[in-house]
Amino acid sequence: MSWMTEALPQNPAMAHAREVLQHTFGYTEFRSSQERIISHLIDGGDALVLMPTGGGKSLCYQIPAIVREGTGVVISPLIALMQDQVNSLLQYGVRAAYLNSSLNPEEATLVERQLVQGELDLLYIAPERLLTPRTLDLLRQSRIALFAIDEAHCVSQWGHDFRPEYIQLSQLHERFPQTPRIALTATADTPTRSEITQRLNLQQAVEFIASFDRPNIRYQITENDGNARERLLRFIREEHPGDSGIVYCLSRKRVEETAAWLRSREIEALPYHAGMDNQSRQSHQRRFRQEEGIVIVATIAFGMGIDKPDVRFVAHLNLPKSIEAYYQETGRAGRDGKAADAWMVYGLQDVITLRQMQTTSEADENHKRIERHKLDAMLAFCEITTCRRQALLAYFDDHLEQPCGNCDVCLQPPQTWDATVAAQMALSCVHRTGQRFGVNYLVEVLLGKESGRITGFGHHRISTYGIGRDLTAAEWRSVYRQLIAHGLLSVDLEGYGGLHLTQASRPVLRGETPLMLRKTRKMKPKRRAKQMGTGEVSDANQALWQALRTLRLELAQSQGVPAYVVFHDATLMEMAERRPRDRQQLAMITGVGDHKLERYGDAFLRVLRNIPDEGQE
Ligand code: ADP
Ligand code: ZN
Repeated sequence: MSWMTEALPQNPAMAHAREVLQHTFGYTEFRSSQERIISHLIDGGDALVLMPTGGGKSLCYQIPAIVREGTGVVISPLIALMQDQVNSLLQYGVRAAYLNSSLNPEEATLVERQLVQGELDLLYIAPERLLTPRTLDLLRQSRIALFAIDEAHCVSQWGHDFRPEYIQLSQLHERFPQTPRIALTATADTPTRSEITQRLNLQQAVEFIASFDRPNIRYQITENDGNARERLLRFIREEHPGDSGIVYCLSRKRVEETAAWLRSREIEALPYHAGMDNQSRQSHQRRFRQEEGIVIVATIAFGMGIDKPDVRFVAHLNLPKSIEAYYQETGRAGRDGKAADAWMVYGLQDVITLRQMQTTSEADENHKRIERHKLDAMLAFCEITTCRRQALLAYFDDHLEQPCGNCDVCLQPPQTWDATVAAQMALSCVHRTGQRFGVNYLVEVLLGKESGRITGFGHHRISTYGIGRDLTAAEWRSVYRQLIAHGLLSVDLEGYGGLHLTQASRPVLRGETPLMLRKTRKMKPKRRAKQMGTGEVSDANQALWQALRTLRLELAQSQGVPAYVVFHDATLMEMAERRPRDRQQLAMITGVGDHKLERYGDAFLRVLRNIPDEGQE
């Protein structure tokens, strides 16, 4: 990394940038590396920005686009995302528009004219549209401040967000060599990073790599003891009543079932997966974005382009395929920096299903090997007995000095037990039954169950029959899950879930290596003193907070935009706590820029003046 570390000289352009930050967006300070990135871009340099979700990437190109002469052209892969961004910008009084297939020809022509006449600060455009002869022609007639390539990891062929059109974006450099380019992504791993540099021709770009820590997200992972759904329900009811959240499941069927079940328990849950018809999918996504308190139950088809800032929890009912996927999916929680939960239950069946999906997939051997390693890393991450955040960051070559205090391991350190003998029994049972049976059967043999199947195979006569009665079936399943996670057993290739021994199991089986395993445990997270989603507002200000939210919803609905586009939760919370009395005081609240002050100031001040503070009599 070669960015400047000395203090930045106070040049006029940066003074302008600061003014835009404060007056247009209503923020007091730049965050972490924003200032350096903005300065670099204003000076005409190229940049590659790696910043976690919620880190504040948008301002990195929006402010230079406003400060530099001409229009900033933003390449963005999803139409819904463009609309949200443009809506938000218009609320701040920034001249923004988009060009994509949702516009009719007249609307598109109007935007094109605005571009050529220099009437836009920002133009969002879909990648496939950007490189058409027509658009290129328009761009050449216009003054372009910069190109911003959002979600730049879409150029990576290994990632699951691959967009072939992104490959073409390397042409930008050849066609517009003088225009600065900034590529941004929240996907951190080194191979993806170098792929972006290479494919987008960004060898000259300065890399800005922010810390990937998301301190406001609480990570919690526990084993599935067979009633994951009930636990999810309890989690939502106790920790997140009325909050927006995302629940991820592996299959479409599970998505449908879970959503219906939650609805039958009075949770406002909507399904989302690629097999649904387009209309209901879009309507569910729209409701999630625009309303408050919707829980979306989805396959991983849902997610990219969701920049809703107030998602309070992401729950996984299945294991993600890799740590990258886990980080990305959980990262959709708490973009606004307020407390949020990443909650997951996983079980033996997940491990078996994912392993089988990998083995039977069409991918080539090399690809399969990489996927296998990624899943192994994910499993190991689930089973660790040290701080999860430290492990997560270490995986991305990032570093956290102290245990975080905000993950399940830190909050409730797991207990381990000496499982050497149990592991020997479990492994030996696999061996004695011929390495072809699944976990359920093996557990029955260990427990000495009487069944026709066992007698049929003659397994009631083997030495491991009935030797495991000191542990329960659930405990044995946990032992097997951990043995698989630790690579001491592997799942068969034919897809029946049969287990066999690996090389690594030999020393354990022979009693040469002791083995410590996690004790099974019910997930009972220590309750937060108060959930911060709404709890950051003190009791005395609850009535005011609700009134501010109601006003926000009315203002948003009358314009057909999501509530957070009017003001974020963080802004309303600050209003409720600080109770500004006039325009001047209101302007001091984070997120209240000049334009919004003009537009909404009086309406909010009326509410602020009318609701008494219940704490002071
Ligand atoms: P990303 O695209 O990196 O996920 P966003 O650009 O959407 O993140 O920003 C996340 C949130 O942080 C938004 O609500 C944004 O308004 C807010 N934000 C960004 N920069 C600042 C800042 N300097 N001060 C206060 N809030 C900021
Ligand atoms: Zn921790």
